[in-house]
This record gives sequence, C-alpha cells and structure tokens, in this order.
Amino acid sequence: MSEVLVVGSLAYDSVKTPSGKAEKSLGGSANYFSVSASLFSKVRVVGVVGSDYSDADKKILSDRKIDIAGMQTVAGNTFHWEGTYEQNLNEAVTLKTELNVFANFNPQLPEAYKTTDFVFLANIDPVLQLQVLSQVNSPKFVGMDSMNFWIDSKQSDLLQVLKKVDIVFMNEAEAKMLTQTSNAITAIKKVAELGPEFVVVKRGEYGSTVYSKHHGFFQAAALPVEKVVDPTGAGDSFAGGFFGYLAAHCTGRPTWNDLKAATLAGTVMSSQTIQDFSMKALLKVDKGAYETNLSELKKMISF
Ligand code: AMP
Repeated sequence: MSEVLVVGSLAYDSVKTPSGKAEKSLGGSANYFSVSASLFSKVRVVGVVGSDYSDADKKILSDRKIDIAGMQTVAGNTFHWEGTYEQNLNEAVTLKTELNVFANFNPQLPEAYKTTDFVFLANIDPVLQLQVLSQVNSPKFVGMDSMNFWIDSKQSDLLQVLKKVDIVFMNEAEAKMLTQTSNAITAIKKVAELGPEFVVVKRGEYGSTVYSKHHGFFQAAALPVEKVVDPTGAGDSFAGGFFGYLAAHCTGRPTWNDLKAATLAGTVMSSQTIQDFSMKALLKVDKGAYETNLSELKKMISF
C-alpha cells in the first residue's frame, strides 16, 4: 500500500448554514482530506497550527494513525475561515479569511515524507503548494485543489502549480471563473489545456464530472442526501476518498478505470461529510458505513 502526502489548511471555521451555525470548529482542507483518506491508506500531513490549536484536535488525526510529523505548531492563531451558505448549498460565500500562522509558513518536509508516491496539494496558498511539491522526489501521481480566493489573489502562482500536477479538482464555479467560460464542459477542457491530464469538476448535489485528455468524460452521480446540514469540506473529503483509494489500490500510475473507481470513493465520503457541522459526520464513517453507501451508489448508477 502506498502513502498519501497532503499539504493544506488546518483551520478553525465559523460557518452559518440554513440549518444553524458552528463557531470556531475544526476544519481546513488538510483536516478533511486526511481524515477521509485515512479510511483507505496511510496519510502524512504538512501544515501549521497556532498555539490556540487544541491537543484534542491533533489527537483526532493521530488516533487515525495519520502521520503529523509535518505539522508545525507556532506562536499565533490558527488559520480561520468564516463562511455562509444561503439557499444555494452548493456555493460557500466567504466572509473572512484570516491566514494567521499560514502567512509566514515555511514548509520543511520530514525526511520520510520525501519519497511519498501520492501527493495532494489541498486548497492553500499556491506558493506553499509549490514549495512542498519541490521537496518530494519523483512522486507517482500528484493532485491539487484550489478556490476563488487564490484564483483572485495568486493566479500566476496557481497556473504554475497546474502545470506540475496530474489531476486538478475544482468546483464548477471555480473552473468557469479561472477559464472565463460559462459552459462547464468547455471550462473543463480549458483547465486541462493549462496542464493536468485529468480534471475533476465537483457539482455538489449534481455529482461530478471527470475528464481525461485521452479518455474523454466520466460522469458520477451524487448520492441523494435530503438533510444537507453543512457542505463545508465536501470537496476535500471527496479528494481524500479519491486519493486514499488510489494509494490503497494502485502500485503504478493509476489507470482510467482506477480513477473512475476512485471517483465513487470520493462521492461516498463527501456525501457523509455534509450531514453534520464541521467534521462530526465524517469522523463517524467506518468501513461498514462506507461499503453500505458504496453499494447504494453502485445500485443507483447501474441497471
Ligand atoms: P471545501 O471542501 O471546498 O468545502 O473546503 C472547506 C475548507 O477550506 C474549510 O474548512 C476552510 O477552512 C478551508 N478554506 C477556506 N478558504 C481557504 C483558503 N483561502 N485557503 C485554504 N483553505 C481554505
């Protein structure tokens, strides 16, 4: 089994949705990603937290055998994101992004991390994504995520990262924004022209579209969920399930069929995350719940 290395935000989030709100609760792209991926494979985390970050929150990762040797703790406050979802639960509205300790973060990978086969550059400053990637020796498969905040503020760095990855995950709105296109399919193809062989566009309750320059399109439906409490982390849980699945099942470079199966794993993990605030629902997912939901998904998309 291969391992997955992730760099991304470790955060306290303040989130308001039509179901209620959660103040300064655990979040961040690397937290959602690594908990999700750890159901399938071993995970190594790179990131930084402030002195306000609780030991109990670090233990959530170490209890899952996630390697946190690459997690630095420094004086200051942990990254804080404040967001709200109105009637359209597929789109978060950012109210505040406080980088705090991430503003001066200089990632130094522990020696053991440098030979990781599967690398995921979760949503964080693209400059940090590049710094981490440059320290890994010939990874087999590299993925990235990003969001409108970085498309707006660091677009040229983001374009550099896109050139170096095999696969990129984006929301439909972000893909359209980056390529200045109103059609989702055109946007996907334009994102692929910027570098990556594969593009995954997440479309919330409508599922996801995966595109390969060589194989064309694969459409995955989302599992039907009626009680969406908090969509935060859906994308990172999707990517975590996707990469965790690949690391557990692929010895070489993933095939197109591997990527399709990984898409179903990501779909199941994201459908669980959204059913409660913060990481509460994701943390309850065990292998049994995963398999039950995967069978339901497969039944729903075959005849
Ligand atoms: P998503 O899976 O796209 O819903 O990601 C949600 C997580 O992204 C939240 O837990 C936030 O802490 C984190 N986040 C929000 N804005 C940023 C940003 N600009 N950079 C890194 N992480 C962010």
